[in-house]
Amino acid sequence: MTGANLETIPKAARKRLHVITWGCQMNVYDSGRMADVLAPLGYAPTDTPEGADMVILNTCHIRDKAAEKVFSELGRLRRLKEAANGRMILAVAGCVAQAEGKEILARAPFVDIVLGPQTYHRLPEMVAQAARAGGAVIETEFPAEDKFDFLPEQSAPQGVTAFLTVQEGCDKFCSFCVVPYTRGAEQSRPAAAILAEARRLIAQGSREITLLGQNVNAWHGAAPDGGTWSLGRLLRGMAALPGLARLRYATSHPRDMDDALIEAHRDLPKLMPFLHLPVQSGSDRILATMNRRHTADDYLRLTDRLRAARPDLALSSDFIVGHSGETEADFEATLTLVRSVGFAQAYSFKYSPRPGTPAAGAPGQVPEAEKDRRLQALQSLLREQQAAFNAACVGTTMNVLFTGPGRHPGQIVGRSSYLQPIHAIGSVSLIGDELAVRIRDAHPNSLSGTLVQERLSA
Ligand code: SAM
Ligand code: SF4
Repeated sequence: MTGANLETIPKAARKRLHVITWGCQMNVYDSGRMADVLAPLGYAPTDTPEGADMVILNTCHIRDKAAEKVFSELGRLRRLKEAANGRMILAVAGCVAQAEGKEILARAPFVDIVLGPQTYHRLPEMVAQAARAGGAVIETEFPAEDKFDFLPEQSAPQGVTAFLTVQEGCDKFCSFCVVPYTRGAEQSRPAAAILAEARRLIAQGSREITLLGQNVNAWHGAAPDGGTWSLGRLLRGMAALPGLARLRYATSHPRDMDDALIEAHRDLPKLMPFLHLPVQSGSDRILATMNRRHTADDYLRLTDRLRAARPDLALSSDFIVGHSGETEADFEATLTLVRSVGFAQAYSFKYSPRPGTPAAGAPGQVPEAEKDRRLQALQSLLREQQAAFNAACVGTTMNVLFTGPGRHPGQIVGRSSYLQPIHAIGSVSLIGDELAVRIRDAHPNSLSGTLVQERLSA
């Protein structure tokens, strides 16, 4: 969790802010930015809701019983708020707030503020309004202004690895997905603003930056020279920033993987050879029903081109099993695609109907027990592939960017180029350095090895 530095705030003005974050990396970034927006009002982060002056629930609506989780958390917070004689501002932010704002206020009238993902730059106003009016404030319109123009330049340090949102919203309207409704239309931030934010992050000690977007490779932003850049060009601008060791971007749509982006993978050593490229299904019929606008074969050809451009590239993906209309043969096609591509890591989910999306009301809903069976079969194959990938790393030497102390005394932990957590014995003074590690062991979710004190050439 990020936020203001307590030391810089006069004691009298200090207020405690606790943010609970669900969901994706973009929500993690948003939570940090909400803390930045509230810092000038004297709010500094605290790790627990007990005794907090303000609690923000930053919610996710992508799957599962998102709203129910929020209501159950609100029940717990209500008791804390009552114990504080109501002296706690309670805000619900993010995609559940956007989708179910009115329902939240009806069922939980003790909530003070409900705000969607596009309005958090207005938080100071909302806090003042809530204090004045003593009633609930709701801001879930998509505002005409761009929130990034109103966020403070000052942001709390994120650490060795940092997230930077460059793109928001989505115009793809996949049949199953709520994002175009909760985050709104696709929007790209200008390149100059992104590069300036990256420079500030680097000055604060970040060595790795992940550019974020719901559909990040659809980014097409105003270029510093007045033209338009695509993501491939932006990555070149980012790679030229002194002090930055590593670059990543997430999450991408196969349709938006253009030549410039593939060439960036070929040409930029700082761009890590690990790409999260969600395919969702291996069945052309289901891909069409999902409105993904590519086939399984398109995906295979794309991954071949990426691997030709960057031979050490490893892939990660997202899969949905049991989408409406998915037959056993469709599911088998997904397993076939997984076997053909070979993934280093992947996320897989049971299809979860989202109210208001086309797939939710479609015929051919798959029974829950069948979704469970398919998910287990897919996950077992993906686990095998991940274990094989990790086992193949044993005996090799990998570059590791150290991010913090390990769990055991004397140990430090970092990430490989492929985002595998790697433990080694070493001094905490090495945190922030990228060093070579000889890999000795593969564990279920991490690797361990011995420091080799010089850096591998890229
Ligand atoms: N923009 C990315 C793309 O095009 O693949 C995905 C963004 S979405 C926030 C993250 C992942 O959640 C998706 O790739 C998908 O696998 C999963 N997801 C989205 N909606 C879902 C639903 N209704 N049920 C199950 N999984 C879902
Ligand atoms: Fe959702 Fe991604 Fe499809 Fe956009 S491209 S609708 S974010 S799954």
